[in-house]
Amino acid sequence: MEKQALLNAIIENAIDGIITIDDSGLIESINPSGCRLFGYEPEEVKGKNISVLMPEPDKSRHDGYLERYQRTRKPHIIGMGREVTGLKKNGEMFPFRLGVSEVQYQGRIIYTGFIHDLTREKSAEEQLLLYTNRLEVLVEERTVELQSLIRQIQEAKEEVSISLEKERELSQLKSRFVSMASHEFRTPLSSIQLSASLIERYTQEFENPNVVKHVNKIKNAVGNLTTILNDFLSLERLEAGIITPKPEGIDLVKFSEEITEELQMVAKQNQSIIYQHTGTKRMVNIDINLLKNCIINLIANAIKYSGENTFIEFNTEITDDKYYITIKDNGIGIPVSEQKHLFEAFFRAHNTGSIPGTGLGLNIVDRYIKLMFGQIEFKSEENKGTTFTLIFNI
Ligand code: ATP
Ligand code: MG
Repeated sequence: MEKQALLNAIIENAIDGIITIDDSGLIESINPSGCRLFGYEPEEVKGKNISVLMPEPDKSRHDGYLERYQRTRKPHIIGMGREVTGLKKNGEMFPFRLGVSEVQYQGRIIYTGFIHDLTREKSAEEQLLLYTNRLEVLVEERTVELQSLIRQIQEAKEEVSISLEKERELSQLKSRFVSMASHEFRTPLSSIQLSASLIERYTQEFENPNVVKHVNKIKNAVGNLTTILNDFLSLERLEAGIITPKPEGIDLVKFSEEITEELQMVAKQNQSIIYQHTGTKRMVNIDINLLKNCIINLIANAIKYSGENTFIEFNTEITDDKYYITIKDNGIGIPVSEQKHLFEAFFRAHNTGSIPGTGLGLNIVDRYIKLMFGQIEFKSEENKGTTFTLIFNI
């Protein structure tokens, strides 16, 4: 009797629903969990066919299932369990796992159904499925985006390489043209120079000052053109990488004095180039032609961009580990906003007005200095003057 009470307590308090039916499918008992799940009071379902708790199509077929089992003894659910759908009193449906066992009791057959609610699991599963689907859609979208990005990058890369190739061809064409033109112009230019000198000599007897003036103009113009052509050729040789410095021991002071003397002749009226050296040492190891070219460019600029009756300071200094070459003028200066372009080819500041120039000098100087592992520094302010310093390690 005690055993019976225990069994009853277990059934009454089970979390899962437990329903028993007889061999014709009528409900004999239902525990509280079963009632809660289906929303019925026990009296409402007891004695009714179990099919009231099932939605279609099981509702109509259940009698047939039972009859087939009893005839064939081939179970579809009994002894195995499967997931099915239940029908609540309020018409709602819910998923549950059903286990059915067959019991022989007091000479008759009873079927016991164990009902484990799956609503929460199912909804979690559905949620998961939803997330998975959403994730898949997202991944797909991202993949499409990524593919289009990759395509764009590919296209951009192709465009860049095409334009790079074009630029390379153009630059080659330009260099070839410049070097050809520079060479081809030299011969007619020297004939013009020679003819101008001859005209000067032959017309001396007429002593017509206008002839002398114009002949000088021709000579100056030819001189300028030759300088430009030489710059073009230097650039072309720099581009081609065929300039390699050949350092040799030189007396920096003697070398600087010679340049000073040379350039004093082309300076403006009363413009004086003052050279000074600091330090006891005089010898340095450097490519004399490249250095000369740099200093001439810097002093020529100082002459060109400063007025008459001014001083141009040209200083050299040799210390223990470095030597410095400085050229300082009190001329028009370089506007601060334009200084970042100073060493670019063809750069000319806007304050140069009608002062002639091609903007190649400093570009060449900068490249020569780099080839010689030196440094170039400058300080300049508009209308206050400019100082350029070349620095080399000993
Ligand atoms: P060139 O190729 O004949 O030398 P350029 O003198 O114009 O022509 P760079 O020597 O390269 O060319 O100088 C570039 C520009 O920098 C000049 O046009 C000028 O604006 C500015 N500049 C250079 N040196 C000075 C200076 N000492 N004072 C003022 N401006 C300068
Ligand atoms: Mg110049």
